[in-house]
Amino acid sequence: MALARRKPTRAVRVGNVQIGGGAPIAVQSMAATRTQDIEATVRQVELIAAAGADIIRVAVDSTKDVEALREVRARTSDHTRAALSVDLQESYRLIENVAPFVDKVRYNPGHLHHHEKQKSVREKVAFIAEIAERNDIALRVGVNCGSVDPEKTAKFGADDVGAMVESALEHAQMLDDLGFHRYVVSLKDSDWRKVVEGNRRFVAVRPDVPLHLGVTEAGMPPDGIIKTRIAFEQLLSEGIGDTIRVSLTVPFDDKGQEIAAGREIIADVEAGRFRSVPAHFGEGLNIISCPSCSRVENNAFVELAQDVKQMAQYAKDYAVTIAIMGCRVNGPGETDDADIGLWCGPLGVNLKRGDEVVGHYPYDSVLTHAHALLDEVIASKGLAK
Ligand code: SF4
Repeated sequence: MALARRKPTRAVRVGNVQIGGGAPIAVQSMAATRTQDIEATVRQVELIAAAGADIIRVAVDSTKDVEALREVRARTSDHTRAALSVDLQESYRLIENVAPFVDKVRYNPGHLHHHEKQKSVREKVAFIAEIAERNDIALRVGVNCGSVDPEKTAKFGADDVGAMVESALEHAQMLDDLGFHRYVVSLKDSDWRKVVEGNRRFVAVRPDVPLHLGVTEAGMPPDGIIKTRIAFEQLLSEGIGDTIRVSLTVPFDDKGQEIAAGREIIADVEAGRFRSVPAHFGEGLNIISCPSCSRVENNAFVELAQDVKQMAQYAKDYAVTIAIMGCRVNGPGETDDADIGLWCGPLGVNLKRGDEVVGHYPYDSVLTHAHALLDEVIASKGLAK
């Protein structure tokens, strides 16, 4: 048995699913369709449920999304056993509208600073916990290394994992102080090394809190699965992780792959089957791309990500990172640390070099500009293979 036993985490009930407390590791995915496209989202939830998901997440950003969610819930709850979860971004108050239709809500501590600046983060967390309590739902404190609380970033400087861990610990403590214990925590990044380190550091202080594992923006298969597998093999084999998500950039109809990949990794680790990874894996071209969700600005995103990957193959031995994101919510910030960033708007794609915008190009011509930029980056860095 290669899954090390660790002290059981608290049991957190999410609909019919239990996370932690010795329950089997729950496997999750997220709908990539536009939430307001009810037909497509119902199909997407059913497809992910049929692939064996325990929990399915949907993005909600507006009251119109909430209306759609109500319909999606009504049309799927009687024939899928999977629990429904919602991802909130800046509009944390939407939890009030969303909570009656879901089993769990995820909030990002790094996004509680944008709205209602006169209120403290503690007040906002108290509001979230109170609504969760009243509606009998669970919460996830979802910290992302790329969008961490600005105060923590200022305090920790280059130690971005430290900033992520302290933010997660602080929110766990806030919820405990409020008497709300029905929560899980996630510490994610697109770099699997930071995911491993962040989760280990969190567990060293709070071994009791159930953890949701994930490598965000892992990209397209097979690389996206490999990056995730490396992180999960390390953590699961140490007994860390109560629920997982494999984030993959794949077309809507292939979203079941996230569940299949997750179950395969768990089964392999349980059976002691570890894939050996070459020592230099991840040192050449690194393409990160978001798994897309309801917020994706143009459905051409997945194809664009695939085209960029193909175009960049000539540079596969160079240490260059290209980030491709589906929308304005995470696009501008999550591309800052890449050498080349592309984030999608409704009609065109923003092309960046580091944190500087190079231009905004139509979907049918951005590849040419990205190619030229890649040549420039390789030349200017004097990169050797
Ligand atoms: S970058 Fe935007 S479209 Fe992609 S997963 Fe994140 S929120 Fe969704």
